[in-house]
Amino acid sequence: MSSVLLASRNGKKLAELQRVVDAAGITGVEIVGLDAVPDYPEEPETGATFEDNALIKARAGAKAIGIPCLADDSGIAVDALNGMPGVLSARWSGRHGDDPANNALLLAQLSDTPDERRGAAFVSACALVLPGGTETVVRGEWRGRVLREERGPHGFGYDPLFAPDDEIADGRSAAELSPAEKDGLSHRGKALAQLVPALRALAG
Ligand code: IMP
Repeated sequence: MSSVLLASRNGKKLAELQRVVDAAGITGVEIVGLDAVPDYPEEPETGATFEDNALIKARAGAKAIGIPCLADDSGIAVDALNGMPGVLSARWSGRHGDDPANNALLLAQLSDTPDERRGAAFVSACALVLPGGTETVVRGEWRGRVLREERGPHGFGYDPLFAPDDEIADGRSAAELSPAEKDGLSHRGKALAQLVPALRALAG
C-alpha cells in the first residue's frame, strides 16, 4: 500500500479525494492528511496563481515527509470583480477562513450588479509532487453565478452563494447539492479526475 499525503487539514477535502480514488477503482493508495504525519513548517501561500500556491504546498509536503504529496488551492473568480477574490478567496474579508464574513463582503460588493453580470467560476488547481521531483499540476473550473442571498445547508465557503450553470443543479445553490452531486460537478472533482492516471501509477 503506498501512501499519498494530502497537504490539507480540511477533513472534507480528504474525504473528497478518497471518494475520487475509490470511484476510479484505484486500490493500493491510501490518502493521509497532515494530522497523520509529523509537523513540518508550512510555507505561506504567496503565489499569484492557484497553480503556484498548490505547488508551494505540495513541494513542501513531499520534501518534508518524503512521500508523494498532493495539494489543492482553490477559490472563486467573479467576472464582475475581474476574477477576484481569486487566490485571496479564503481571506477576502481580511480574516483567513471566516466564511460568513467573506460571503457577506462578496454580497455587499455585488449588491448593485444585475443578474446578467453575476457570472463566476470556482477554480481548483491540484498539484501532485513526488519526492524524486516529478510534478503534475491540473486545473478544474465550475461555472455558475453569484446568488443574492445564502441558500442551503451543505458544503462550505462560498457554496451557499453559488448557483452552478449545470442543468442538473436546476437552480439550486452548491450548498443545496448532496456531497456526491457536488463531487460530480465541482472544480475540485474535475481537477482530481485528471490526476487519476498519476495516482494509479503510484499504486503500481
Ligand atoms: P484554500 O483552502 O486555501 O484553497 O482556500 C479556498 C477558499 O476558496 C475557501 O476558503 C473557500 O472560501 C473557497 N472555496 C474553494 N473551494 C470551494 C468550494 O468548493 N465551495 C465553496 N468555497 C470554496
